[in-house]
This record gives sequence, C-alpha cells and structure tokens, in this order.
Amino acid sequence: MPLRVTFLGTAGAIPTTERNPSSIFVAREGEQLLFDAGEGTQRQLMRFGTGFSISHLFVTHLHGDHVLGIPGLLQTMAFNDREEPLAIHAPHGTRRQLKSLVNALGNRPSFPVRIKEVGDGDVAYRADEYEVRVFETDHDARSVGYALLEDDRKGRFDRERAEELGVPVGPKFSKLHAGESVELEDGTVVDPEQVVGEPRPGRSIVYTGDTRPTTATIEVADEPDLLIHDATFADDRADRAAKTAHSTARQAAEIANRAGADRLALMHLSSRYAGHVGDHLEQAREVFEGEVFLPDDGDELEISYPDA
Ligand SMILES: [Zn+2]
Ligand SMILES: [Zn+2]
Repeated sequence: MPLRVTFLGTAGAIPTTERNPSSIFVAREGEQLLFDAGEGTQRQLMRFGTGFSISHLFVTHLHGDHVLGIPGLLQTMAFNDREEPLAIHAPHGTRRQLKSLVNALGNRPSFPVRIKEVGDGDVAYRADEYEVRVFETDHDARSVGYALLEDDRKGRFDRERAEELGVPVGPKFSKLHAGESVELEDGTVVDPEQVVGEPRPGRSIVYTGDTRPTTATIEVADEPDLLIHDATFADDRADRAAKTAHSTARQAAEIANRAGADRLALMHLSSRYAGHVGDHLEQAREVFEGEVFLPDDGDELEISYPDA
C-alpha cells in the first residue's frame, strides 16, 4: 500500500525564489492529508500534480509561514464546487484566529470546514489502519507536531506449514490468518499461532513543524521511518536557533539518532542560506547514521515497510 510524501514547501519564515513556505502533502491509499499550508500552497499542489482532495489539514502553529495559504486554498476549493467536508486540526487556543483565516474577507467556504483543537497525546485523526497523533513542541507560539502512525500488520501466513498440518486450502486459511482457531475434519484443532508469524510493524512519519529539540519528538514514535524536523539554522547560528525557538541541522540529527529514525528530512531552512545548504547536511551527517537529506520543493518520497 503506497505511502507517499511530497514536500510542497521547505522554506523558513521568509520564502525564496526556490523555496515556498512550509507545507507537506501525504497520500495514503486514496486519502490525502496536508500538514501546514504556507502562502502559495495551492499553487504547489498544482505544480506537483497532487490534486486537491485533501480531507484533513494538520496545522502545527499559527505563524504566517505555516497558515497564510489557507484562505486561497479554501477559496479555490470552493470555486471547484467542493462539497466534501474538510477537517482542520490546530493547537488549543487557536480556533478564533484560524476561523478568521478560514472566513477571510467574509468569504465563508461553501463546504463544511470543521476546526478541531488538539493537544499533546491526542489522536487528532483515527483512520482504519493508522492514526495521526499529536505531540508537544517548543516554539514561540502555541505549537504541536504530528505523527502518522500505522497499526501493526498481521503476521505472515505460513502456507506450507498450514498444509503440513492438514488444513485444506480455502476459507480456513483466511480464518487462521484473521486470528481464529479452526477444527479439521478429524477433530484436530489448529491455532493461529501455529501458522501465523509475529505482527509486523507499520510505517510512521513524524513532522515537528517549528521547534527547539524536544524529547516528545523522540517519544512519539518508535524508530520512525521518516522524521521531518526543523533545521532552520546551521551551527554558525546556533544561538539564534535557541533564541527564536528553532533547531539547527545538528540538533535535528541528534533527535533523529535518539529516536532511531531511519531517514531525516531537514526542513524550514532560513532564507539566509539560500543557495548554499551544504553545511546543514554535513553537520547533520556528523551526528546521524541514517539517511539525511534536504528536500527541495516538489521532492517526493515513497515510504516502504520496515520489513520490506
Ligand atoms: Zn515557520
Ligand atoms: Zn514558527
């Protein structure tokens, strides 16, 4: 089942000619989720061909570079006669401000928009096979991060072993795989543990939004497949990162290491580094043993299963 991340906007607070403000698009089995919507997000959706069928928007905080894309995006959705509801998740205490963005200039969307305030530990959205969990971050605004956590998958079915035990090919196979015991014609009972392996972990993506390094980011997911972390500055501006409640690339890498992340995407680059981002990568690689990259706008990433 494909799980794809598209980096729509990777800039810091001020966009550059190369980078749009923050927005990340995630598609999973026909479902489209958006994390933050900086100014111009709707054009990035068009440019990179993702479509507009977004059902949930997860907002990390209400700084302009993460939300100013909302009014334009909703107006275009309305122009396109959207009828499906849109759920917007945002930190506690931001509903009123968010509402003024949703209804900007007195334009009320023609489709239902539901705003839900969320806080640390909440499940913002529970889907069939995964959930989006909220964790606290440390920024100079009410802020949260989000983790997409898939459920464990069924263990592998050992077909050969089942046949050896005399289970006839057919519905009894599915019953066993679903965790039920079955009785054979001679009265023998076969239990699922005999033919089904251990449950296999699902995939996980953690997105911090803007933040200083925090332990909550480490704890929200066990060995995430992808950590998308604030890396606004390189080492030369570590003092500035602390003061403005952001992280350096090195700090992001330390968090990735402690979380046991498989891959680390460095996000939210300050415009002062436009055109020369080599130090970010180098400094992160000194700390983190996994794969580090610095996505450009439009970069896509397919997340595979940990046991694939
Ligand atoms: Zn920001
Ligand atoms: Zn911010």
